[in-house]
Amino acid sequence: MEIKVNKEKCTGCKICVDVCPAGAIEIQNEKAYINEKCTLCKLCVSECPVNAIEVIGEEKKVSTLDLSKYKGIWFFAEQKKGKLSHVAYELLGISLKLARTLEEEVCGVYFGSKGEDAAKELFSRGADKVYVVEDTSLDEFRQDVYVCLMTELVKKYKPNIVLASATMIGRSFLPQTAARLKTGLTADCTDLAIDPETKLLQQIRPTYGGNLMAKIICENHRPQMATIRPKAVEEAKPVGNRNGTIVRDDFTSFNATCRVDLISKQEVEQTIDLQEAEIIVSGGRGLGDGKNFDMIRKLAKLIGGAVGSSRAAVDAGWIPYPHQVGQTGKTVKPKIYIACGISGAIQHLAGMSTSDYIIAINKDPNAPIFKVANLGIVGDIFEVIPKLIQKLESK
Ligand SMILES: Cc1cc2nc3c(=O)[nH]c(=O)nc-3n(C[C@H](O)[C@H](O)[C@H](O)COP(=O)(O)OP(=O)(O)OC[C@H]3O[C@@H](n4cnc5c(N)ncnc54)[C@H](O)[C@@H]3O)c2cc1C
Repeated sequence: MEIKVNKEKCTGCKICVDVCPAGAIEIQNEKAYINEKCTLCKLCVSECPVNAIEVIGEEKKVSTLDLSKYKGIWFFAEQKKGKLSHVAYELLGISLKLARTLEEEVCGVYFGSKGEDAAKELFSRGADKVYVVEDTSLDEFRQDVYVCLMTELVKKYKPNIVLASATMIGRSFLPQTAARLKTGLTADCTDLAIDPETKLLQQIRPTYGGNLMAKIICENHRPQMATIRPKAVEEAKPVGNRNGTIVRDDFTSFNATCRVDLISKQEVEQTIDLQEAEIIVSGGRGLGDGKNFDMIRKLAKLIGGAVGSSRAAVDAGWIPYPHQVGQTGKTVKPKIYIACGISGAIQHLAGMSTSDYIIAINKDPNAPIFKVANLGIVGDIFEVIPKLIQKLESK
């Protein structure tokens, strides 16, 4: 496939230059030229007012599956120690919204102990059916086992849509499940919708560092799969006593093997859940040493915040992974996010750039974090943070 400019039609209006997220279009002699940075996203094609940009050699793929056999909106009902997590209600909420246009049943998928209690809870908030695989060993997340169970359930019952939350668990096992099922998955969506004409799932998520919202569809493969960022959608509210159907599959029938043995567990100290926190103070490589996180902890404590970090700080062993914010860490949306010695790499911004108010402290005035910051302090964190602490302590 190739994207070309029809020079006879092109008026050199530059609209395509402005819409191209990859900076791949230049104007030369009052005509648009597409350079090698083009990612074939086709945005310019739809935006050109004189239809001068054409797609050449695009093959229309046709599905080899009987898509009509796939029915139902499934969501993975995550639990912690046998108790449903709030993200299960968020997924139920968005599934019910999709069902209004799609008119298919909304089904939870639950792995763990106390399956009946979980199912009743989901029915009382609007679920029609819950697929339960019950075993106490499933209360602990184990990647191989969860992938095996979800893959086999999908093969057996053929849902149209499968959703999970973009938590550590959902992000880990759902993409692997999608790969086994040879279908696509859009990670980290912020919203979902159903196209009223095609009835396809529109998987909506920010792209190009949050500058564009992409609507991704999966036309030819099933199920249509996505993970949704926690807190991005509303929880389903209780609707009173309702009955639903519980479909049980015996855990032993799956022959699920696991390459990882759980030897011991260690609770990581984090008094406030990052995704719940209203204030987050995050430290990055600029701290220079793990012991300097004490300064970050002190500041966070004084203002009632939680401690976050960049991946560089986690990789250096200065702070455990649950504190990591970003594409492969947590997505957060506090009222105030204070980035200390963090450059603002695109993968970090992916997890915090929608925070209500961002304060960045960095000694490099050109650090990309300043592009998203509401308040930028160009300075040395070892001078600025102690002064802040001193000021707060004196109040
Ligand atoms: C697939 C993939 C996924 C990733 N996922 C994530 C993710 O989830 N989260 C994440 O954070 N990263 C992630 N990364 C890594 C990301 O690309 C960056 O490498 C990382 O965010 C950099 O962390 P940093 O800003 O702490 O370090 P650096 O980029 O090294 O920045 C350190 C900053 O500190 C400043 N500084 C230094 N000393 C001081 C001082 N004394 N006072 C003030 N400022 C100072 C410097 O000017 C610099 O801007 C991912 C990368 C990949 C490839």
